Amino acid sequence: MSKQTHAFQAEVKQILHLVTHSLYSNKEIFLRELVSNASDACDKLRYEALDHPELYEDAPNLEVRVFFDAEAKTLTIRDNGIGMSAEEAAAHLGTIAKSGTRDFMAKLSGDQKKDANLIGQFGVGFYSGFIVADRITVESRRAGLPADQAVRWSSEGTGEYELETIARAERGTDVILHLRDEEAEFLSTWRLKAIISKYSDHISLPILMKKETWDAEAAKQVVTDEWETVNKAAALWARSKSEVTDAEYQDFYKQISYDSEPPLAYTHNRVEGRSEYTQLLYIPKKAPMDLWNRDKRGGVKLYVKRVFIMDDAEALMPAYLRFVKGVIDSADLPLNVSRELLQESRDVKAIREGSTKRVLGMLESLADSDSAEDKAKYADFWKEFGAVLKEGVGEDFANRERLSKLLRFASTHADEGVSLADYVARMKEGQEAIYVITADSLAAAKNSPQLEIFRKKGIEVLLLTDRVDEWLLSHLHEFEGHMLQSVAKGAVDLGKLQDEEEKKKAEEVAEAFKPVLERLKEALKGRAKDVRVTTRLVDSPACVVVDEGDMSAHLARLLKQAGQ
Ligand code: ADP
Ligand code: MG
Repeated sequence: MSKQTHAFQAEVKQILHLVTHSLYSNKEIFLRELVSNASDACDKLRYEALDHPELYEDAPNLEVRVFFDAEAKTLTIRDNGIGMSAEEAAAHLGTIAKSGTRDFMAKLSGDQKKDANLIGQFGVGFYSGFIVADRITVESRRAGLPADQAVRWSSEGTGEYELETIARAERGTDVILHLRDEEAEFLSTWRLKAIISKYSDHISLPILMKKETWDAEAAKQVVTDEWETVNKAAALWARSKSEVTDAEYQDFYKQISYDSEPPLAYTHNRVEGRSEYTQLLYIPKKAPMDLWNRDKRGGVKLYVKRVFIMDDAEALMPAYLRFVKGVIDSADLPLNVSRELLQESRDVKAIREGSTKRVLGMLESLADSDSAEDKAKYADFWKEFGAVLKEGVGEDFANRERLSKLLRFASTHADEGVSLADYVARMKEGQEAIYVITADSLAAAKNSPQLEIFRKKGIEVLLLTDRVDEWLLSHLHEFEGHMLQSVAKGAVDLGKLQDEEEKKKAEEVAEAFKPVLERLKEALKGRAKDVRVTTRLVDSPACVVVDEGDMSAHLARLLKQAGQ
């Protein structure tokens, strides 16, 4: 193929513009992104080579090399990974296949720190090269293709890119950045090494740079032709716990999560027994913006004996723990395990169960801790992820009890942080049920006339205002032997909480009002199922309730809003 010019997909143009303009103050992240792509490419080769070892050709040692030419002002990131065919180069470097691009663009806010992390999350990392380069040339040969079917992709990062067929003996990819004049700082071994150790230390492949020595005659550092490894290149999770510092765990989290905040908590264990694996799992501090997208990417990466297998292996974590980040490295799974196989594997099931327990354990130790700091951490966690955790009550039967202890609510006693155990401890003498009310907002819940009698008697009522709460209630029927009862349903039976006197009075009133009730029933025919005298109101004259077992008024409203 002779040289051809192609236009970028419209979204790419927008992304390029945004990325280069909004990330300038964080420009060094381009190297993190390009090294991460190089490493991904090596991972992909290793994976494909499981079934096709010939893809290694004569270069089985996967590695990344970073070098520059100070005169030509070029910086090259070279890998001997999977490479790209011409079609792949056009598809991957000219279009954005991933969903969520629009979200991404909407979120670029001018908050540099945040934006720099978004770039990795949204899979547009390659384009960050244009922050420092006014032209990028990519030369690549896909593993398995003949030497004369390599490709050169080149672009100034504006409207279009060029593609041509070239010859290239080595498998893999060179990404050559033609640095802008003002970016000469990246033509420095020292500077590049610092960036690599900041962002890419955990990459488990060697990253090589040319050694420098002191040239006495020239009185300066000169670059030699000898290569040296500049990253640690040891998978952090494979090291023993006692050898890893807290700072290293935190750095690793930043590298895998693209989160600018440190994690809330983490756990690192080697599990032995029927199923052998290592887990390094983190709970983030802040919810990602795509938390509600149940098929979002990210999460837990699967490795088998240090070989990267896949990102976002959802079979490893239940959906309600989709905010957990980290790595699971199995010693038992076959290296060529597919997503389908993962779903069925008994080893994976054991891993998922074990990891779920670990995460719940981490949360419990914060929630039940005596330290005020931990408790505050749990409260923060709950604000960010509580609504997601509630999904677990319906989805994870085996852990329902543990999950129900982790739930926190608002109540008529406190605006937040009330656990079911707190509630039970405060129950009135003779109280059997846990009373709850659902509403759209805390204010609406608090002002509900249905609470009047409970207020008067000083009985606590949980105020449920999350969208998932109706759903939660349909799965959580009891806690430690106490039924959860909605105060907006049926004829609230206060049972032993109501004294004989009150009961008698209510009966008398009901008798006296019979004719009125009959007339009301007639007037509301077809609109109200029943009209009755109630003891639940203190100040308000009337309220609407639904029948026990019927959909609550709140749920009915939600469904109506959703157009059902
Ligand atoms: P992401 O890495 O999240 O997919 P990027 O914008 O960083 O997004 O890269 C886009 C795509 O370009 C990659 O998914 C990959 O297919 C391709 N690519 C980029 N760099 C390389 C490389 N060094 N070797 C092979 N493919 C690459
Ligand atoms: Mg990338």
